[in-house]
Parts: sequence; C-alpha cells; structure tokens
Amino acid sequence: MMTEQLDAMPTDWQRALAIVAHPDDLEYGTAAAIAGWTDERREVSYLLVTRGEAGIATMDPVKAAAVREREQRASAEVVGVTSVEFLDHPDGVIEYGPALRRDLAAAIRRHRPELVLTINHHDTWGGVAWNTPDHRAVGRAVLDAAGDAGNRWIFPELSAGGLTPWDGVRWVAVSGSPRPTHAVEVSGGVERAVRSLLEHRTYIEALTDEEPEGYCRAFVDQVTSAAAARFGGRPAVAFELFPR
Ligand SMILES: [Zn+2]
Repeated sequence: MMTEQLDAMPTDWQRALAIVAHPDDLEYGTAAAIAGWTDERREVSYLLVTRGEAGIATMDPVKAAAVREREQRASAEVVGVTSVEFLDHPDGVIEYGPALRRDLAAAIRRHRPELVLTINHHDTWGGVAWNTPDHRAVGRAVLDAAGDAGNRWIFPELSAGGLTPWDGVRWVAVSGSPRPTHAVEVSGGVERAVRSLLEHRTYIEALTDEEPEGYCRAFVDQVTSAAAARFGGRPAVAFELFPR
C-alpha cells in the first residue's frame, strides 16, 4: 500500500561503501542521505564500476571517461566524500558474474564497511520504465558480494593477496527500489544533493535542454518528496534494506 510508513534507517554504523555502475547514479537522490551521514562524521566511500564513458552520445568514450571521472570526484566532494575509486568495467555491457563479484568483494574487504549502498537492481523503475542492464548487474553483484567478502573460501586468491575476509557488512541498502522498506530524513542534505548532481554538468547538458540547476532541483525534490509521503512528511531518501 502506497501510504504504508517506512522504518527509520539504522544509525549504529560508522563506515559505508557505496557501489554503483556509473558516475551520477548516487547523485539522483542518494547523495542527500550521504550529505547527512558525513555531517555526522560517518565515513562514506564511493566505488564506481565504470567511468560512464558510454553516457554522452556526442562525446567520444575516451574523452567522456576523463570528464565523467572529474565530475564524479567533484560531486562526491560536495557531500563530504573524498574516497572515490573506479573499477573500469565497460560502460553499458557490465557482465554479472564471478569476475564482478570478485572485484566488489575485494573492495568490501579493503573498506570494511558495515553498510553497503547501491541503486536499484530490480528489472524496472517503479514498475514503469525498464532498468538498465548495468544497474541490474551491479546491484545484484553488490548484494552477493556482501556475503562473498566474508567467506574465506570464495575467491581464496583475495586472501592470498592479503585481503582478509570481512564479514562485517550488516546491511545492504538499495536506493531507487520499487519496494522500499526504510528511509532517512534528509532536510539538511537536499541543497548539497542538488549541487552534487549539478557537478555532472557536461553529462546533464548533453542529456536535457532544461536549465541544469532547475533540472537537478526538480529531480532531487521529486525523489525526496516521494519518500516524505511515507516518512512522516519530512524530505527523505528511501531504501530497500537487506539485513545480513
Ligand atoms: Zn546509471
């Protein structure tokens, strides 16, 4: 039922790792929550599976990769995130499978987060628009890798390379899910979320004829008010939370 209220996100954690397919995936709403968490002195790191090099129709991928990396680092900084890594899987054709799970498990072992964030791994956005193959592949691999990271017998080559198992992931939180269960209030983070999305200016200018700041504000407002309707009327970001 649409009016069912969402539960509050857990607060008893210190380190989060956000893993998504593309530069900008975290900026379409999730960054509002991240801004609030870094205000509370929690550590949040970003891991991008690609550089989003196939995301700008009018720009050659080699050039786009460099532009989008720069824009992603700038947008992370706006919400207090300084650790931003890229894995260089190919944009648009990320393959779900053991190679991806191994890369993600390695990152989780390195960062040792209690909370792992990703975006919608389901087939659709709200049952309406078909999701992209990259989001589906990465979201599912993130959910799997949270377990892989803790098992010494899965990817033993990681242990041999010095990455000891980390079984400390307590939750994987998926934003943009059509089936959210939890939310966090983000009043203090909305303005920075708008600015962090706006840092993807080259991408956005190629994407839409709308005035960039208006476009960013409208999108972030839409996301945070949709969750507000199910979280006491306060601007919020919703997550589907998978406890472990
Ligand atoms: Zn994306």
